[in-house]
Amino acid sequence: MKFLRYGQPGAEKPGVLDADGRIRDLSARIRDFAPDTLADGSFARLASTLTASEIAALPVVSGEPRIGPCLSRVANFIAIGLNYAEHATETDAEIPEEPILFNKAPSCITGPYDDVFIPPGSDKTDWEVELAFVIGKGGTFIEEKDALSHVAAYFICNDVSERGYQLDRGGQWVKGKCFPSFGPIGPWLVTPDEIADIQNVRLWMEVNGERVQNSSTKTMIFPIAHLVSYLSRFMILEPGDVVTTGTPPGVGLGFKPPRYLKAGDVMRLGIDGLGEQKQTTRAWAANAA
Ligand code: ZN
Repeated sequence: MKFLRYGQPGAEKPGVLDADGRIRDLSARIRDFAPDTLADGSFARLASTLTASEIAALPVVSGEPRIGPCLSRVANFIAIGLNYAEHATETDAEIPEEPILFNKAPSCITGPYDDVFIPPGSDKTDWEVELAFVIGKGGTFIEEKDALSHVAAYFICNDVSERGYQLDRGGQWVKGKCFPSFGPIGPWLVTPDEIADIQNVRLWMEVNGERVQNSSTKTMIFPIAHLVSYLSRFMILEPGDVVTTGTPPGVGLGFKPPRYLKAGDVMRLGIDGLGEQKQTTRAWAANAA
């Protein structure tokens, strides 16, 4: 099942894609895709019981509405650093012995086709295509063999990063990972039954039409089941928590010399089975978001 949220920012409604790729209005069946409807079982019930004929009976959404972020009111947005060996190498970092964790501010989450802002004075804004997932069933000390059953859905995340803020300004990476619009997620929440092997899907990024990242989740250092288990040893994972799992090689920082985004650039990115995103970059203005 491919769920999505459509409508103007802050007023999105839940929808589902039908067999022909049209959006059907799901607001009569669920309030929203958010931590509360994951926690109370509404999402799991809907995902496991909604039939094709029920979808076909739902109202078709007319026109081409904006697609919003695939989740609302995310409380915890966790990211994994350097989870592809060649990406660690291209950024002159050591290949990690344990997963590197950092946080992205949930307030940076935007829709998959919304503009991405270049922060004031930034000359090192960079792209990162990533596979992300949302926790459906929370827990602590989750065993690796049970870990994937805690995942409610997969989706694309562009872990937009300001490398100067991230690497040159002291302390943790968080500074470079949280600017408004630095977390496009979606377009769809894809339920795990739709993906034959999540550790064998292709992911790619194009900047102004040039393919710069082209890889597979096969080459992750720490697979998703390990990440869920690992995270749950350090924090309570809760329904609605989002985890983005690291980027493969081909980011701007990895080019010699590095290449960064400027206003007007276009990023197009995709993951097999999870759809595509597309963002245009533009200069931040104080009233822009
Ligand atoms: Zn990343």
